[in-house]
Amino acid sequence: MIDTIDSIILKGSALRREDCIRILDAPDDELDNLVKAAFVLRKKHKGLMVSIQILSNAKSGNCSEDCAYCAQSRNADSGIDMYPLISYEKLSATGSLIKERGLSRHCIGLSGIRFSDNAIDAFSEQVRKLKAETHTAICCSIGFLTEVQARKLKAAGVDRINHNLNTSRAFYPHICTTHTFDERVANIKMLQAIGFEICSGGIIGLGESNDDVVDMLLELQSIHPASVPINFLLPLQGTCLEKADTTHLTTAYCLKVVCLTRFILPAASIRCAAGREVYFKGHERELLSVVDSLFASGYLTADGQTIDDTIRLVKESGFEYHIE
Ligand code: SF4
Repeated sequence: MIDTIDSIILKGSALRREDCIRILDAPDDELDNLVKAAFVLRKKHKGLMVSIQILSNAKSGNCSEDCAYCAQSRNADSGIDMYPLISYEKLSATGSLIKERGLSRHCIGLSGIRFSDNAIDAFSEQVRKLKAETHTAICCSIGFLTEVQARKLKAAGVDRINHNLNTSRAFYPHICTTHTFDERVANIKMLQAIGFEICSGGIIGLGESNDDVVDMLLELQSIHPASVPINFLLPLQGTCLEKADTTHLTTAYCLKVVCLTRFILPAASIRCAAGREVYFKGHERELLSVVDSLFASGYLTADGQTIDDTIRLVKESGFEYHIE
């Protein structure tokens, strides 16, 4: 194992699929070595910097899709707040907060998978104003776009688009039946072709095998995303996965997943997203030795750590936070 890791770091050689599986299956007493090896790559590509991002849910609930993990899905009975596109004032308040606190990026999520041209025009106008006022970097999570819609968002000032693969191609039908993995890949390719940076990652704990985790990460490697959010399932009440068994999501296993992500995508910005506060509690220094990006102030439909607490955690762990 150590020979394999050393050759990745020192010679820059690619991991073979069987090495990836061995890393996820590694005994826990190998974990220190994995984290140390991941830290070498993290330091080489990202220094000691951590980018802290805030996520706004700009349109919530009422989604036509049946993603099993999602509280906004048509199949969920989650009692979340549901609303159409929020007012510009609300979006701008978060944008101003990000600017004042010197955070990295405003990530804006909109529930739904397909949008009318009128909806995209209205949202583009909000982005244009926000960009002119705050100059913050903007990433949107906004389903499948037509090329015309994507170009409108780009012209309005969206820098990056988030479109997660979520899991492997083989496992995808187990978590969603209303659209396909390949539609997701095609959407990402279209966005890349017109010049968007891509943020794409996945969720661990959906019931997938280690083979699925590796397949997803290798597919992400072929996409070359600038940013890779790794979420660890929070089984939300009212979703199809509310009773999902997450006992295998030990801190050691979750660390192996983020280490493997760093080995496969060494130069990417790797974000520990949902589940950080649960699965890495008390192990933040090790986590930040591997990942270089965090969300503060919660996730789309789940609470998280405040901005102040997140900044404190970064500093106390011996890292620095910055504007990208
Ligand atoms: S993940 Fe997105 S597409 Fe799937 S149900 Fe939730 S909001 Fe809809």
